[in-house]
Amino acid sequence: TKHFPVRRKMRDLFSKKHDAVHAVDDVSLTLRRGQVTALVGESGSGKSTVARLLAQLYPRTSGDIRLHGRSTAVKSGSAFRRYCAQVQMIFQDPFASLNPVHTIRYHLTRSLKIHGHAGKTAEDLEKALHALLNRVSLTPPERYLDKFPHELSGGQRQRVAIARALGAEPEALLADEPVSMLDVSIRLGVLNLLRDLKERLNLAILYITHDIASARYFADQTLVMYAGRMVEGGDSETVTQSPAHPYTRLLIDSAPDPDRLTTDIDASDEDRGNGEPPSLIRPPSGCRFHPRCPMAMARCTTDLPVRLEIGDKPGHWAACWLYDEATVAAQRPGSAVT
Ligand code: SF4
Ligand code: MG
Repeated sequence: TKHFPVRRKMRDLFSKKHDAVHAVDDVSLTLRRGQVTALVGESGSGKSTVARLLAQLYPRTSGDIRLHGRSTAVKSGSAFRRYCAQVQMIFQDPFASLNPVHTIRYHLTRSLKIHGHAGKTAEDLEKALHALLNRVSLTPPERYLDKFPHELSGGQRQRVAIARALGAEPEALLADEPVSMLDVSIRLGVLNLLRDLKERLNLAILYITHDIASARYFADQTLVMYAGRMVEGGDSETVTQSPAHPYTRLLIDSAPDPDRLTTDIDASDEDRGNGEPPSLIRPPSGCRFHPRCPMAMARCTTDLPVRLEIGDKPGHWAACWLYDEATVAAQRPGSAVT
């Protein structure tokens, strides 16, 4: 859970009673090696906050993040240091995340040295640098090593950012909209590279996106966030083919084209659905989606829905009162009145 304190001036604009932005509440997720997990939602849904929490870039208001069961609550412990090396982040804008005055060689060398993978000799280092660039298909490596970020294309820069993350020999990558700023024509190449790395290096990847069509293409597991809460999750096929939560349905219906990876996606696509995402300073009562939900019932305005397993696909769940326990039990085969 992460609440941002609101600066006094801003707070006065909204309400004196509420003093925190409920950026993410009650979010729980598990990343597994060899799997891509997509976290899907509109801008402002809290998905980037989740990534930054997982990257330990923000302190948490409450809750814990564990690696192999070991808590990272103590910031100075060995478990925390190990976590920071093992979990690497890739940002949306590769240009902003690379220092323009330094070469690719500098960025990659620094990552290898910080994480103790530079080897003992200059040859070891050179070999490690070449291996990193080969991994992200920037070949031959000598063509790229001494270039500056501005001499590369957007896609090449994102590959450098990925190579730099790999310099830590991580177990997990957190990729926050890694292709949304790239040209449409090269998005697929970068996603395919990430998928290939997942398989070859047995990585756990968190893929953050506002584009549910790309989640279906690229992710094994899909989680949907709305207004700082997770509303549906399950394997990507099930969530995108048989969405249960009205918000997931809205996302899918408002996707302009099922083959969006080959069409243009831009930020204006994010808010195609009816209505606006709610304020996180005063989130709506009950189900946060109720002001926009076509299926809303009386209890939705007052009671916060709980996560329930639904349907016949194991692991498919939604937090929505359409699926309260009584309804789910009645739908289960074999539970009919006898
Ligand atoms: Fe809609 Fe109610 Fe379900 Fe929320 S709980 S998504 S308002 S039906
Ligand atoms: Mg974001």
